[in-house]
Amino acid sequence: MGSDVAEQVSRRGLVVQKYGGSSLSDAAAVKRVARRIVEAKKQGNDVVVAVSAMGDSTDDLLDLASKVSPVPPARELDMLLTAGERISMAVVAMAISDLGFTARSFTGSQAGVITDSVHGKAKIIDVTPGRITDAIAEGHIVIVAGFQGVSQDTKEITTLGRGGTDTTAVALAAALDADVCEIYTDVDGVFTADPRIVPSARKLERVTYEEMLELAACGAKILHLRCVEYARRYDIPIHVRSSFSQLHGTVVSGSIDDPLSQEATMEQAIISGVAHDRSEAKITVVGVPDKVGEAARIFDALSKAQINLDMIVQNVSAASTNLTDISFTLPRTDGQTAMQALHALKGAIGFDSLIYDDKIGKVSLIGAGMRSHPGVTAKFFNCLAEAGVNIGMISTSEIRISVVVDEGDVDAAVTATHTAFDLDADEVEAVVYGGSGR
Ligand code: ADP
Ligand code: ASP
Ligand code: MG
Repeated sequence: MGSDVAEQVSRRGLVVQKYGGSSLSDAAAVKRVARRIVEAKKQGNDVVVAVSAMGDSTDDLLDLASKVSPVPPARELDMLLTAGERISMAVVAMAISDLGFTARSFTGSQAGVITDSVHGKAKIIDVTPGRITDAIAEGHIVIVAGFQGVSQDTKEITTLGRGGTDTTAVALAAALDADVCEIYTDVDGVFTADPRIVPSARKLERVTYEEMLELAACGAKILHLRCVEYARRYDIPIHVRSSFSQLHGTVVSGSIDDPLSQEATMEQAIISGVAHDRSEAKITVVGVPDKVGEAARIFDALSKAQINLDMIVQNVSAASTNLTDISFTLPRTDGQTAMQALHALKGAIGFDSLIYDDKIGKVSLIGAGMRSHPGVTAKFFNCLAEAGVNIGMISTSEIRISVVVDEGDVDAAVTATHTAFDLDADEVEAVVYGGSGR
């Protein structure tokens, strides 16, 4: 796959498109999306489309499940959630047929999306797209239900985690050797911050896989983290753009180690964006005996419970007690499972107590240029101090600095950081075309 997306669309090829829930909010939106899909077909392309559930319907299904059962069985929750994407694929196919073209819709399982067996956050391990290629050969437009697959081992239906349709699209693009993978959403591309918080955010023309990985991992839900990992592994450029405008969006491609990217980062901004995340919680294990193997026991228990941790901090133990505190952050949705897993080990580990805090947020500054510019950390912390934001935890990578702050301080921290690093656009305000931001 080459990188000049516009040029490739103009010749016959195979185009994979993805439409998010925010682009499919109601019947009129479904018809609009169908017209856009047909447009790509009319240009002479074969077209495969991954669709998300309409509007906020995944959240509505989750609300329904929680009213029926406080902790629903994971298998049944996946069954329920995949229904959202099934509705979308069928209605999009119907709308296409109304425009005089034929479409065939397929569930993830029918489309050959094979996953591991972890319900709620399954990983795609293979795509066997026989039915898709047959349907293309018969001249149909193919619509695939995103965010779902079937487990190789258990044969159960799985889901890929919130936002997972992005990953379905990239996995299809890789398996079909597509020429273009377009992610259609409700903003014009990847911006220097979430346009819902910073209206003066600027659209990035291009961003490397590494920077996009950090942005996605730090909460910029414009792209699912696994989708970026997948695209990087198979070297698939992603074109993120709006389904509501004809504007060229952001191309995610290339590495920070490419000579071209290095030149670009020397000349361009040091920082590519500010991301925020309000979906994490913090657990502090208080009074852990400071001896070999204690941390291993704690993190073993969490790993067995399939919980992915983010930041981890261990304090120096107090000399008088030889006890230490260990704090870590994790997805809020895993909070109760983690607390149960740790409580069960209280005797074996011998800690005093657990503190659970879900009123936190994380703010991250990301940019490849950080590697060659000292002083970024100092400037970041100074700007947070001026904005009156207290820092709870800190973590860094080569191209990122993240801090945990009070949930209520997130917007102020993001806005102040965006301005301090000269990321504000001069004139144009970023447009948010749809979606509830939920
Ligand atoms: P979709 O329904 O198309 O999957 P999402 O709601 O998952 O859409 O993702 C799009 C949203 O991502 C935007 O509306 C925006 O609020 C949010 N977002 C967060 N960070 C960024 C960013 N850096 N650039 C653009 N959008 C961002
Ligand atoms: N419908 C799913 C969600 O809301 C998947 C997706 O939108 O990509 O998370
Ligand atoms: Mg999404």
